Amino acid sequence: MTKNILQEYGVNPILCCGCGLCEYICPTQAITMKLTATGVFTPNIVVSKCNDCSLCIQVCPSVSFDQMRLDKTIFRKERTPTEILLGIYERAYIGYSVDKEIRSHAAAGGVVTGLLISALDEGMIEGALITKFNVRMMRAESFIARSPNELISGASSKYAPVSIGNALRKIRQEEGCFAVVGLPCHIQGIRKAEALEKNLREKILLHFGLMCGGTPTIHGTRFLLRLLDCTSQDLKDLSYREGEWPGNFSVTTKQNERKRIPLHRYSPIIKAFLHPRCLICWDFTNEYSDLSFSDAFWITNAKKLGTTAIISRTKTGSKLLIHAEQNDMIRLMDMEITDFLKEKKGNLDLKKTNLGLKMMLFKLVGGKPPKLYNYPSLTKFKALSALELGLRFLGYSIINNKYVLRTLLSSLIKL
Ligand SMILES: Cc1cc2nc3c(=O)[nH]c(=O)nc-3n(C[C@H](O)[C@H](O)[C@H](O)COP(=O)(O)OP(=O)(O)OC[C@H]3O[C@@H](n4cnc5c(N)ncnc54)[C@H](O)[C@@H]3O)c2cc1C
Ligand code: SF4
Ligand code: SF4
Ligand code: SF4
Repeated sequence: MTKNILQEYGVNPILCCGCGLCEYICPTQAITMKLTATGVFTPNIVVSKCNDCSLCIQVCPSVSFDQMRLDKTIFRKERTPTEILLGIYERAYIGYSVDKEIRSHAAAGGVVTGLLISALDEGMIEGALITKFNVRMMRAESFIARSPNELISGASSKYAPVSIGNALRKIRQEEGCFAVVGLPCHIQGIRKAEALEKNLREKILLHFGLMCGGTPTIHGTRFLLRLLDCTSQDLKDLSYREGEWPGNFSVTTKQNERKRIPLHRYSPIIKAFLHPRCLICWDFTNEYSDLSFSDAFWITNAKKLGTTAIISRTKTGSKLLIHAEQNDMIRLMDMEITDFLKEKKGNLDLKKTNLGLKMMLFKLVGGKPPKLYNYPSLTKFKALSALELGLRFLGYSIINNKYVLRTLLSSLIKL
């Protein structure tokens, strides 16, 4: 092979979400994920190693995606009108981890970490693919956690690009079953890989899906460090959700000095660094997971502890939840789906409407939109989210064209 097959299919750093599934599936190891100057992971291909098998194209969630086909393979049914927005589901809950250490280390209620520990204790899984932040390399990395301590060390959200190809390969090489935790684009890629590889399908027992409003490029994190007058060389530790819920972007320097920015202040800033691919993303609730998790921001308590909103989609997911509650690992309460729809309306509107407009704007900034099959619902037009979408694309174009919006942002924060 003398051509870069991904480029041939229009995959570039604007379209590629950096999931790393192409790296995972490539039989000749021609693909390596690299963190590029634009601050995102993209595949680097050694064309001389490529045998033109096209597996990387087949697995890629950014080249093409068929909603109805995956619905039928995984859930064996078609969507109801509510499920067009939320994905197919069985029941919805809010909950939290009973263990205070887990809950205080977590992004929301610590249900993800609590359930993983429960599945590990019960011998259901050998380990779980989760994510930690490597301060030395200044990037988020996925790894296989095999003990409760490792699971707790990887708890909480990392608002930076994550590529899972390498860690997923380790799962393929090992005996036993595993859980994976990922964003919607990770889980989409994993489900596509499972359709191609029976072995992977049998090894992944649990797909834990984080709901996702978007991931900033690594420049978002670098910018927050600049606001705190820190360089990556100064760092001993970094967390995006440290302290009392909802938490702070927090760094500890090598001189043991701690510096923080609260989530409500830094969240709008890093959104300006959103990965361009997130601007056309159509999945907020992680529709192909066994269990989907989000922050229940609308539930506050005097002790400032977080709560997780949970959507259970499969029998395996539902059983694990009930089992963990019976074993006193987590507390669960039913959640009215109408409450969830109301609370997450902004996210859902942004992801589930204006498909035509999104794809048009995406082409304008240099991307080739994915081929989406069976997505009739997404053509709905909503003026307010169209305006927000327009502003996001404008923001992206400005930053990308180096009009130094960052200086403006930094003065706004200091106000
Ligand atoms: C980039 C991103 C965007 C999000 N956007 C929203 C949003 O808009 N609205 C909302 O309500 N919730 C959002 N979430 C989900 C929310 O922040 C929590 O992850 C979720 O509520 C689970 O909380 P928990 O306390 O139960 O999980 P925890 O017990 O804290 O466990 C979280 C797990 O996720 C893994 N993880 C962390 N970051 C990543 C990552 N980047 N990629 C893959 N795995 C990761 C951790 O390793 C850990 O295993 C987002 C999360 C991320 C990472
Ligand atoms: S076509 Fe096959 S061999 Fe070539 S890069 Fe893609 S997966 Fe690897
Ligand atoms: S599989 Fe993932 S990392 Fe590879 S090209 Fe597609 S989106 Fe990018
Ligand atoms: S918004 Fe979509 S593409 Fe972006 S990180 Fe989240 S799931 Fe992936």
